[in-house]
Amino acid sequence: MELSNRQEKIIEIVKNNGPITGEHIAERLNLTRATLRPDLAILTMAGFLDARPRVGYFYTGKTGSELLTEKIKKYKVFEYQSVPIVVQESASVYDAISTMFLEDVGTLFIVDDNSCLTGVVSRKDLLRAAIGKQDLSALPVHIIMTRMPNITVCMKDDLLFDVAKHLINKQIDGLPVVKETSKGLEVVGRVTKTTITKVFVELISDNHI
Ligand code: ADP
Repeated sequence: MELSNRQEKIIEIVKNNGPITGEHIAERLNLTRATLRPDLAILTMAGFLDARPRVGYFYTGKTGSELLTEKIKKYKVFEYQSVPIVVQESASVYDAISTMFLEDVGTLFIVDDNSCLTGVVSRKDLLRAAIGKQDLSALPVHIIMTRMPNITVCMKDDLLFDVAKHLINKQIDGLPVVKETSKGLEVVGRVTKTTITKVFVELISDNHI
């Protein structure tokens, strides 16, 4: 977040004199309290300053990048997850390939009759199956999938940062977002490398803290 000259000055004043009232900050800048109100609100909301009733403003001591890191670490999966594309485990590899093209995704989640997660199929899983001399329409996808319990999953309230670490550590492109049910893990969403890239672009474009 870019701070205006005036906001930088306010931070300096509070750093050196805090706790200090809005009235006193305004006096030092030869401005009215009303003129300063939006700046003080922004600086407080962004976390540079803290305000205590009847005491005044004080400097939190946090730099812009510390505040940004704090903010990113709070992002939850449900705020960014996208719609999962699922395929029945009885579907053929041929159908899985068609679904991957039609839905324009790189990872398919495989489910049983109760819509519960049983596996994952990636682009390379399908490529591997396709270069074998097999009839892809007769080959069920559950034969080639990576299966439970070896699937890395996440829940909607998990931190996006933890999901990003899983993607890197496990060298995979995406994670299903699941919900526990009596029948197993229901697939309710997905988080992929694209999700993380979008957050990165959004953060920088919006320039917000
Ligand atoms: P690709 O294989 O196309 O590069 P990935 O890197 O996502 O795509 O997949 C690598 C392997 O990991 C594949 O065999 C795939 O089935 C498996 N895989 C993908 N996602 C997961 C996941 N969430 N949990 C466990 N294994 C996964």
